[in-house]
Amino acid sequence: MQANHRNVIILGSGPAGLTAAIYTARANLSPLLLEGLEFGGQLYTTTDVENFPGFPEGIMGPELIDRMKAQAERFGAELRRGEATELDLSEPPFKITSSEGESYTCDALIVATGASPKQIGVPNEMELRGRGVSTCATCDGAFYRDQEVAIIGGGDTAMEEALFLTRFASKVYVIHRRDELRASKILRDRGFANEKLEFVWFSEVKEFIGDDKTGLKAVRLIDNRTGEERDLEVPGAFIAIGHDPNSEVLRAWPIRLDEQGYVSPEGQHIPFTEIEGVFVAGDLHDHHYRQAITAAGNGCKAAIDAERYLEATQG
Ligand code: FAD
Ligand code: NAP
Repeated sequence: MQANHRNVIILGSGPAGLTAAIYTARANLSPLLLEGLEFGGQLYTTTDVENFPGFPEGIMGPELIDRMKAQAERFGAELRRGEATELDLSEPPFKITSSEGESYTCDALIVATGASPKQIGVPNEMELRGRGVSTCATCDGAFYRDQEVAIIGGGDTAMEEALFLTRFASKVYVIHRRDELRASKILRDRGFANEKLEFVWFSEVKEFIGDDKTGLKAVRLIDNRTGEERDLEVPGAFIAIGHDPNSEVLRAWPIRLDEQGYVSPEGQHIPFTEIEGVFVAGDLHDHHYRQAITAAGNGCKAAIDAERYLEATQG
């Protein structure tokens, strides 16, 4: 066997990829995991994770990921830096070229490259991530009990998350660049009926104001009709303008992607793709739930299916 050949290669070091690594390593398949450019994925960018079972006091996102990594390595998984820049899925063994200039081959491939929240692209957006600026209301909403918060976006996600935030916040400003929501009628109706929501139309974020010590202090808005600016003072702002799936490396291959670029096996919870031996897991194909626990669950499913595939094809 060639030095860079593996039974299983996993792309991505978020909860989906690391769970797939734990399962395939425990099955004695000696998986290799390519971490991607952002080790740990989305959870590595957050602070408290309060909804992952088994941690009643909560756990910091990076610590949770580090523990998953240690668990995978304990059973023999090998993690390497770099991301897959090119795949050859024409026939097994599949070929993977990495950003570190390495080439690998494998009999089964698990793609768990996740999705990245879209950014607005304004000053302090990244600097204040985790310090008041968030992309996940389900995760961070409970920190703003009885406080006023803002949500940016006018789609279903924004509306769903704004409604979720009303459980905690005293008021939720919905900042939208038009005066019409993109969200579906049912969510629009619920939004308009909720007294805690205040819609701020024709408004775009120009800048987030705050610093490392104070966290977010205000959102600087600009009225896109008049150019008028004002600061909306809130300690929490949630960006909900959509996600971009990290599916670029799959585009050259006959794997069905939906119109947004997500891998869309039937039902979105099944790890098989159109190419036998290539499996998917996590936010890359499940953009409905987008939770660490569901991504981990999908990583487990992909690993078990990869193991069964290898058993059936190699005995
Ligand atoms: P990701 O976490 O997106 O990981 C994808 C991985 O793939 C990354 O390591 C990336 O670098 C890598 N990658 C990308 N391209 C390539 C490539 N070409 N080759 C190799 N690797 C590649 N969920 C909860 O349940 N609870 C929470 O409290 C919570 N808090 C959150 C807070 C924030 C700020 C955010 C953004 C999300 C939060 N979530 C939370 C959601 C949760 O993080 C995601 O649902 C989960 O991380 C998805 O896991 P994943 O493994 O599918 O993908
Ligand atoms: P989306 O439908 O693409 O909506 C994104 C919203 O963000 C739009 O209102 C858009 O404004 C705004 N936006 C985009 N870029 C912006 C920018 N740079 N600055 C300011 N605003 C910006 O995304 P989504 O809401 O995440 O939904 C994605 C898909 O998942 C949709 O198909 C949705 O129906 C589905 N979904 C369904 C449910 C549900 O059924 N319960 C829940 C969540 C998501 P414009 O409107 O002006 O373009």
